[in-house]
Amino acid sequence: RAKAAGGNRFEFADAEADARAITRHGLTNALPAALERGEFFIEYQPLVHLHDGSVHGAEALVRWSHPQYGVLGPDRFIPLAERTGLIVPLGRWVLEEAVRQARNWQRQHGGSSLRINVNLSPTQLHHPGLVADTVAVLENSGLAPGALCLEVTESALIGADDELLEPLRRLAALGVDIALDDFGTGYSNLANLRRLPVSVLKLDRSFTKGMQQQPANPVDVKIVEGIVALAHSLELAVTVEGVETGAQAAQLRDLGCDTAQGWYYARPGAPDRIHTLSLSDAVPTAS
Ligand code: C2E
Ligand code: MG
Ligand code: MG
Ligand code: MG
Repeated sequence: RAKAAGGNRFEFADAEADARAITRHGLTNALPAALERGEFFIEYQPLVHLHDGSVHGAEALVRWSHPQYGVLGPDRFIPLAERTGLIVPLGRWVLEEAVRQARNWQRQHGGSSLRINVNLSPTQLHHPGLVADTVAVLENSGLAPGALCLEVTESALIGADDELLEPLRRLAALGVDIALDDFGTGYSNLANLRRLPVSVLKLDRSFTKGMQQQPANPVDVKIVEGIVALAHSLELAVTVEGVETGAQAAQLRDLGCDTAQGWYYARPGAPDRIHTLSLSDAVPTAS
């Protein structure tokens, strides 16, 4: 890399940082027009019941089909949209589109109970229209509130006061599930969990990684065991992310986790794939 540059190493690093800043700047400026032109699309990743592998629902994951750079993942543009506030209209679009899609799946399956998970950013949590927008989207689509799960990261709720929690409480009272995403990475006070209107913990991938090894990392096993016990005692369901192998899935199932998501089952993809996968909904529970 900056090898031959010798004393110019720092200049080189600066130039690289400059290039990144210019790209970020360009992407930030392009966001509003991209939303208008319909350059965003959603991939869906199934969530399955660990006990029988049947499909529980799907998480909506947004992507940007950029005319120059190709498909960009959310980590490239969500932070930019957060900073400029564009996340509010973008997030509303994702919610509307994902809820409409979920309703379509349900219609195609004659009242199947498929559910949809949608991610919320901190800025959306602070936006005063959150509850009204969500209620309107549900009413327009005909999706039952209980079929929607909003995912909020643990770090977004650290130190949250009652004012910030109020909209989530109202949504929860309507029957919308709230999941604590990336759980375990935010160093939140566990006692604080009782205050939060959440019904699902989504255990971060970093904890399930240790289950990929054979034998599983004993410390990670203990941690997952403890979190599952705590969650279940508070009547919260546990979802695990980043399940990449069958052994990992079996281990997590044996530890009592409820639902799972990961490449082992399916990568995020087009909505019609969920349709075929969810046919296993009809498969009776294997012991
Ligand atoms: P997240 O909500 O924790 O989503 C899970 C991420 O893990 C997704 O990355 C998914 O593609 C990836 N993943 C799933 N299974 C596996 C696996 O088995 N192995 C590995 N290594 N990775 C797996 P993605 O799609 O890049 O999304 C990254 C983050 O961007 C999401 O993390 C979420 O926080 C955020 N995001 C995505 N869509 C939206 C959105 O519509 N609105 C907001 N506010 N944030 C979003
Ligand atoms: Mg999520
Ligand atoms: Mg997550
Ligand atoms: Mg994550």
